[in-house]
Amino acid sequence: MVANRLARHLSTEIAAKEVQINMISDTESHIYQPGLLYVALGLAEPDSLFRKHERLLLPGVNLIHDPAVKIDMDSRSIKLNSGKSMEFDYLVLATGSHPDFDDIPGFREAAHTFYTYEEAMRTRRDLEEFKQGKLLMIIGVPHKCPVAPLEFMFMYDKLLRQRQERDNIELVYTYPLGRLHSLEPVAEWSEGAFETAGIAGETFFNPEEIDPKNKVVSTLEGDEVSYDFLAAIPPHKGAAVIRASGLGDPDGWLPTNKYTLQLEGHEGAYVVGDAAALPISKAGSTAHYESEVVVRNIVREIHGEKPMPLYDGKVYCFIEGGLQEATHITFDYNNPPKPSEPTEMVHWFKMAFNRMYWLSVRGLV
Ligand SMILES: Cc1cc2nc3c(=O)[nH]c(=O)nc-3n(C[C@H](O)[C@H](O)[C@H](O)COP(=O)(O)OP(=O)(O)OC[C@H]3O[C@@H](n4cnc5c(N)ncnc54)[C@H](O)[C@@H]3O)c2cc1C
Repeated sequence: MVANRLARHLSTEIAAKEVQINMISDTESHIYQPGLLYVALGLAEPDSLFRKHERLLLPGVNLIHDPAVKIDMDSRSIKLNSGKSMEFDYLVLATGSHPDFDDIPGFREAAHTFYTYEEAMRTRRDLEEFKQGKLLMIIGVPHKCPVAPLEFMFMYDKLLRQRQERDNIELVYTYPLGRLHSLEPVAEWSEGAFETAGIAGETFFNPEEIDPKNKVVSTLEGDEVSYDFLAAIPPHKGAAVIRASGLGDPDGWLPTNKYTLQLEGHEGAYVVGDAAALPISKAGSTAHYESEVVVRNIVREIHGEKPMPLYDGKVYCFIEGGLQEATHITFDYNNPPKPSEPTEMVHWFKMAFNRMYWLSVRGLV
């Protein structure tokens, strides 16, 4: 999105060969991660989530399919996996976040998540076989899309009701803090929605270890809770290249100016998306709004102007409340979210966005 927006704003400079935009990627295709939730529940097919980068990039952006292994801010160069090196004048770090499956002993063996393509497919397969018992959801923080585990519970509840299997399955959701969600208004809203759906909620639940053989989760709080199907969101970390380059904190999050989105302590370098250590949700919409600010600031710098403090922490999230209803929240650094009652119309907006996403990646909406 950043590369495409830059290509549009700087088309004259690119045509005059004064500016070159290179996008380094470690994958051939871009994945629409929010779709993994639907894939895991058997509500969407995986093919719809992938597009080759080259199909998404506008003319004027060079795609370099070669993972970055080290970023050297002194020489302003990036070492690539192939051994090649690339120099830069301006840098945008958008290396995202990933689940850390090894943070909790027993996690890999025991848990089902939907935060990667492979895991979403495994969860889909095993969920189809799961016909009786307790589904326990455990959550580690931080993780991207803080509302996705709630959505999973609401959607799975409705799926079971549709299949007339709900009476055979107990749904238990846990959260590490003293409420059901990190955002207080969302936690309050979830309480009522869980009660209506018959989903049990447990707070102050920080998994310490999982015993896959006996199907028991032990917590830092001293509880031992059994499960038949363990749905889980592991805590996330920043990209390995950030840590290898000594740029972020020990978990790989980048110190970022919360208004200009500049990488703290480095001129001409910006951070977009999950990689930033900001007091705001790690979400695609966050990256979307941030990308507008970063593009404007880089264009300003290229034109000899100073970066502006333009980002106000804006985030927009849909929250699926079942299979045919959803609500949505908007919030920023100063204004908390206010979830309203889910409606069918908001659900269809979300469905429409799932398709429109490919236009937004091209920087068109
Ligand atoms: C199940 C699920 C549901 C979600 N639902 C929503 C939702 O409803 N709404 C919402 O707003 N957000 C949602 N999200 C979150 C959203 O997908 C992420 O927050 C968003 O993708 C973050 O964008 P990003 O650009 O920071 O990182 P990413 O999209 O993860 O992109 C980072 C890219 O950097 C690449 N990379 C990493 N290291 C290197 C390297 N060394 N060299 C080259 N390339 C590298 C990665 O391969 C990746 O392609 C969801 C996520 C999941 C998993």
